[in-house]
Parts: sequence; C-alpha cells; structure tokens
Amino acid sequence: MMGGMGALYRRKRPTRFDAVVGQEHVKEVLQNAIRKDRLAQAYLFSGPRGVGKTTVARLLAMAVGCQAPPAERPCGACEHCRRVAEGRHPDVLEIDAASNNSVDDVRALKERLLLAPLLAPKKVVILDEAHMMSKSAFNALLKTLEEPPEHVLFVFATTEPERLPATIKSRTQHFRFRRLREEEIAGKLRAIAEEAGIEVEEDALRLIARAAEGAMRDAESLFERVLALAKSPFTRADAEALLGLPPEEVLAGIADRLLAGEVEAALEEARARFLEGYAPRTLVTELKRHLRDRLMERPDEAVLSALLALDEADEVLARNEGPLALELALLRAYRAARPAPASPRAPDPASPPAPKPPPPPPREPAPAELTETAWRDFLEALPITLRAVVREARPALKGGALVLRFAKPHRFHYERTRAALATLAPLAKKRLGAERVEAVHDEADEEPAEEPPPAPPPEAAAAPPAREEGAAGPLADPRLRRLAELFRAELKAWGEEPLSNDS
Ligand SMILES: [Zn+2]
Repeated sequence: MMGGMGALYRRKRPTRFDAVVGQEHVKEVLQNAIRKDRLAQAYLFSGPRGVGKTTVARLLAMAVGCQAPPAERPCGACEHCRRVAEGRHPDVLEIDAASNNSVDDVRALKERLLLAPLLAPKKVVILDEAHMMSKSAFNALLKTLEEPPEHVLFVFATTEPERLPATIKSRTQHFRFRRLREEEIAGKLRAIAEEAGIEVEEDALRLIARAAEGAMRDAESLFERVLALAKSPFTRADAEALLGLPPEEVLAGIADRLLAGEVEAALEEARARFLEGYAPRTLVTELKRHLRDRLMERPDEAVLSALLALDEADEVLARNEGPLALELALLRAYRAARPAPASPRAPDPASPPAPKPPPPPPREPAPAELTETAWRDFLEALPITLRAVVREARPALKGGALVLRFAKPHRFHYERTRAALATLAPLAKKRLGAERVEAVHDEADEEPAEEPPPAPPPEAAAAPPAREEGAAGPLADPRLRRLAELFRAELKAWGEEPLSNDS
C-alpha cells in the first residue's frame, strides 16, 4: 500500500503464463513456440492499454533463458526469471519508444545489439509504445530487422499498430490483445480480495470491473484503493461511492419517472443529485447504462427511445457541464419516450406489446428513391468545404428524411455534418424533397452490409416506407439498428417478441 497507485499492479505482475488473465489466443501460440523452441525473431503485440502486452513480453523474455524444462517456461522462480521480473537482467532491454525515438537512440541500440548476450541465450528488446518511433528511427532499425542477429528477439508493443510502417509489420509476428471481459477482471479481483482477506460483494466487483473498461491495469489500480480502505464486507454502495457513481436506486427512480411521464419529479431528482455533486455527464451516462440494462432484460420501445435521445444529448453534455444541459437531456428522453404506447411503463410480459399509433402516412409523394444522379446534384449544390465532408456519407431516403450514414472512421465528417444540418436541410428539401436531414455515425467497425447503395429498384418508390420496415423485421427500424450497432447486441431474442404489431 505504501507504494501508492500502481504498486499492487507491479506486485501482482504475473511471472507465469497461467497467471495472465485472458489473451488465451496469444498465450497458446507463444507457449507452444517456447516448448518447441521455435520463437520468431520479432513480435508485434497490439491492443488497448493495460491488457497485458508488456506483461506477456516480459514472460517471453523470461522464457528465453529460463532454466526450467521447456514445458514449464517461464517458471518465474529461477535466477534468470527473477532477474527479468525484477528488471535487472543485462540482456533484456525495455525501451520506451515515446522518449527514445530518435535515429541516435536506434544507433545506440544497434551497437548494443551487436554484442553477444551476457547471461541468456538471447537478448530481448521490448519496445513499448512502438508507434512513437519516428519514421527515420524505424528506417534505421529496418536493416536490423531484415537480417536480425541470431541472438536478438524483438517485441514491439503498441496501442496503435496502424501507425507502424508496413515494412516493420511484415517482419513481425502480430498478436492482437483484446480487452478483458468484466467476468475475467472480476475473477482476478476476487482472487486478490481473497488473498487479502477482504470480503467484496459480487456487485461491487462487477462495478469496478466495468469501470476499468477492459483494462486489468486500471482495475487493479482501482482495487488497490479498495484494499487501502480495508472495509469488509465491501458493498456495492461502497463501490459506487469509490467510483463516484450515483446509486442504482437513484437511477432506477429517475428512469421510472421519465418513463411514467412524471417529468417534473424526474427533473427534481436529477437536480438534487447535481447539487450533491454528481456531474451531469456522469448522471446521464449512468442513466444510459441503466436503460441499456433494462432493455437487455426486455425490449421496450419507450425505453429504447429514451436511451437513444440521451445518447444524442451526450454530445451537448461534453461541452456543457451545467444543470441546464442535464435537464435538457432528460427532457429529450422524456419527449422521445412519449409517442410510444398509451402505457409508457414496460409492458406486462404476458400481454402483447401495447399498440402504437400507426406510422404517419407519407404526407406528400416525396421521392422515396435516391438516385446517384440526384445525390451528385445535391453534393454539387453544397459549399465546397461541406461537400468534402458530406461526400463520405452513405445516403438514403427514409420516411421522408435524408439519412447520411458515416462509417466508424469518419467520426470527424459525421460531426461536421451534424453541425451543418441547418445548412443542409433547405438544400435537401429543394433538391431531394427530403423533409429533414439526419446524420448517423456507425459505432461498429463493420460496414452494415444490409444498406443498399443509393439506387433502389423502381417498385420501392411505390411502396410506402412503413410497409417496407414491417416486412424486413425489427432491424429495419433505424433506431433499433442503431442500438444494435451501439451495443453490438444479440437481436435474436427480439425477433421472438415483436416490437411492432403491424405484421
Ligand atoms: Zn525460470
């Protein structure tokens, strides 16, 4: 505890592969290579921070000279392993590329690599934050990688593998480390708690695991504070206090009131929490998470609408931390949840979902198809700077709206487009007959395959849009699709319990 933040993590850094949480796909291949004495000469470990890249790199360095039988390497106990674990092995160089990234640094490194190892069969070079190396530094290193000395093993660790030159990547064996699941993190924390003789409620473990967002290092830093408090049992409420999160009952209360249409009571509750010191953004983020959890238990259109409205409000909250922004976010959620069924509460599971008003008929015969020519004309009509960002969108006309969909990497374009909706709207109306313009940003990596290019078959123009949605199932609802993308949710269960009753 005396070591302050991070001490626990160092103390607990695994000295054997079986102590590393997760990353099975990496461990298996590496252990196999160690057993067969067939390690590559250069590895690339990529993935988010705090998920074990450097830990595994050190295990590799240990294995290289471990004195245990091959199947047990690294043993974590022999002289070689201990020297590596304690950071005092003369043949293991751990370099932070963020601060040693010049050509001169690389030259000095190469000179060191010419010398034979002192104690181990190989020198191991671990280059942390490898993407921080300058291009010229990489070039200086390239020759060494092309004809690596027999006695050198490289490990490049990076959070941004895409920033490494292709020439480097092609000469390394690449392992992608993934974020850890909440259960994986909670399991490790449980073991630490048991060892420390502290009883920690499961809910508290899960909260901490979730706050760590997949990074074991963050989870252990947080847990160090739990150990320092030495409170046993450590409850869910303790964890909420530690993490600065509003209590779950409070969130449930606000959500209940919003969905029941008691907007003033919801606002009052939220204001009270604001005065207690909770940041609007924290309240809204946690409220979103609470609604998400509800939705995963049972689909409900009002909950979904409220959730999506809150999500949109999040951008405003990023810029404005005042109570007004918080109230506006809740009002949006309230309004969004309103048009849904007569009873806005979650429907009784035994009864079918409450009927919802039929979708409004198309007021005027707006052109339901967007041809490539029309889209190009529209782009031409835009100011040139706006054209450059809008061009990245995949456009579609849906229910009278021009929907501009941006793939995940185009967040900037999406934001610029959103900021310019007022400029786009009159042009979209004039050129495409669209009543409004919506910008959508895909959170998922994959491009949704079901989006057709802007040239639908002629009969689509005749069919009213609402019919199309019903025919294609719940995923045709753009809000549901957005949710699926947001949470990468399994939508199988939703198909069994139809959300709309128009089929
Ligand atoms: Zn050993």
